[in-house]
Amino acid sequence: MQTMRDFHYGSIHHRDNFWREQARRIHWETPFERVLDDSNLPFARWFPGGRTNLCYNAVDRWLETRADERALVWVSTEVDQTREFTVRQLYDEVNAVAAVLRETGVEQGDRVLIYMPMVPEAVFTMLACARLGAIHSVVFGGFASVNLAQRIDDAAPKVIVSADAGSRGGKVVAYKPLLDRALTLARHPPTRTLILDRGLAPMQTDPARDIDYAEARARHAGAEVPVVWMESTAPSYILYTSGTTGTPKGVQRDIGGYAVALASSMAYIFDGKPGETFFCTSDIGWVVGHSYIVYGPLIGGQTTVLYEGTPVRPDGAILWRLIEQYKVNTLFSAPTAIRVLKKQDPALLKQHDLTSLRAIYLAGEPLDEPTAQWVADSLGKPVIDNYWQTESGWPILAAQPGVERVPTKFGSPSFPVYGFDVRIVDEATGEDMGPDEKGVVAIVPPLPPGAMTTIWGNDARFVETYFTSVPNRQVYSTFDWGRRDADGYYFILGRTDDVINVAGHRLGTREIEESISSHAGVAECAVVGVADAIKGQTAVAFVVLKSAQVGEPGPAADALRREMLAVVDDQLGAIARPSALRFVQALPKTRSGKVLRRAIVAICEGRETGDLTTIEDPSTLDQIKDSLQ
Ligand code: ATP
Ligand code: MG
Repeated sequence: MQTMRDFHYGSIHHRDNFWREQARRIHWETPFERVLDDSNLPFARWFPGGRTNLCYNAVDRWLETRADERALVWVSTEVDQTREFTVRQLYDEVNAVAAVLRETGVEQGDRVLIYMPMVPEAVFTMLACARLGAIHSVVFGGFASVNLAQRIDDAAPKVIVSADAGSRGGKVVAYKPLLDRALTLARHPPTRTLILDRGLAPMQTDPARDIDYAEARARHAGAEVPVVWMESTAPSYILYTSGTTGTPKGVQRDIGGYAVALASSMAYIFDGKPGETFFCTSDIGWVVGHSYIVYGPLIGGQTTVLYEGTPVRPDGAILWRLIEQYKVNTLFSAPTAIRVLKKQDPALLKQHDLTSLRAIYLAGEPLDEPTAQWVADSLGKPVIDNYWQTESGWPILAAQPGVERVPTKFGSPSFPVYGFDVRIVDEATGEDMGPDEKGVVAIVPPLPPGAMTTIWGNDARFVETYFTSVPNRQVYSTFDWGRRDADGYYFILGRTDDVINVAGHRLGTREIEESISSHAGVAECAVVGVADAIKGQTAVAFVVLKSAQVGEPGPAADALRREMLAVVDDQLGAIARPSALRFVQALPKTRSGKVLRRAIVAICEGRETGDLTTIEDPSTLDQIKDSLQ
């Protein structure tokens, strides 16, 4: 059996052979001329000359062996519906939408903006775009009109596909009025929109512009739309980063490289096989949804579960119930979902047969040790923390059980994934750091297949943003801090802009958070640096307790606060002790579960919070404000 180390070494030092081998996992209509064109780094062109198609690899290719097997299962606990599609039915649905899009004038290279809730039609539309060689830009359904208008102007779509409404936590969220408003705000709005009417919210329609999805689909039922064979390096989609740290960037991805990367990851990272079932709880509006709800599992010949709902409705056992019901082999979720479940009755975890489940993969934010330990103990399954970004398209750091089974360490997303030449570099000199030294997590170009190829419409910004921040060498910066221990395990220590400077000492807010979180009473916490006239900055901590009552002001709360600060003193030293520690019921987060630190800092410093359209629950900001009184 090969070792992870050898496998990774081969991917970097015998790069062309390695990826030529991996490329056999997908169908090429025309073979590629070269594995990699690296003549213009940091731009990397993977498999130039080759022609393929993401939709063909995800759907058509499986017609021969899996036509009557389930390809897509949609479960909505929001509208209490379940729909299942075999490969053949998925093929039919995708072809019908492709015919509709073609009728509206969509051609190869055109953009199609998708602003939809978690419904099967969203997946059909993404695949239909891929079939036609059109570039999709999925905009997360939680965005409001202004953000949507910005993305319309950036991508200049020919058509927008949307719906009357979505639903979250049992409440209808109307999409159509937001879309209509965005279309009036956009400078160059498209002339056609395709609207799925779910019957959830009344809407005004414009007959000159709006096409009814169901009606158009019916007219094109049974249509077969030929696959457009695309140059491997042509763009497949545009996807904006979450905007946690600033203005979102339109990440552009290719076709052939992406297909190869995802196909390989299904085997090596997820250790899976065709015929299995994959359940990813993310949203199609995020990169995890693109890669592991839609393309990865389907390209890998697996059944994908598309879930519209939260982990706690109708009750905290819903994820486990679905795993039992659909014999899910792989669960992919986010630490935030697990922290929510941690607050539920532990008995809920024991009611379902989870024997089909091989492992649970978590990504998107730091997985703190207590949460990792809790889920591993409760489920008795391996927990695989994996670290990546919208930009990377698939995991940068992860355990890879399909290559070699190596024990994981809690708090670490393990090792670099093959293809990623990951380094920990000194931000001042650009040099590689030694074991246990903290530095910036960087990647030596070329970025592997599947990673972003540029920023949409702005090559200069791509180079400038990602490849110039580390001095003296051209490496890709992740803008995250990390370290590698003597055994080669990596640890992510927070974002490079999360570092604060207290009286001349540089402190990572993430480290302080980890320290506070190790106190048994803490459900989660956020530490931010707040401007201070004397010290430059001070650390301020906001803590959500496991049990709500103890946080009420009074001697009990004071005692608890002292205990938590003592943990920080003990673990990191008094210099790291937050100047204030406040209890709140919930932290302000994006809908993808990321803590909105910049908004917290703004409130603490009495400034405007700025763009907050991605916020999950605006009332959490008031809690921050109130806690400061
Ligand atoms: P923006 O770049 O616009 O500020 P964002 O970085 O939040 O937005 P994403 O690409 O969705 O947008 O998130 C990637 C980031 O999430 C990583 O750079 C890292 O900070 C964090 N992250 C993802 N997975 C992990 C993980 N397993 N452990 C720690 N951090 C993680
Ligand atoms: Mg980022």
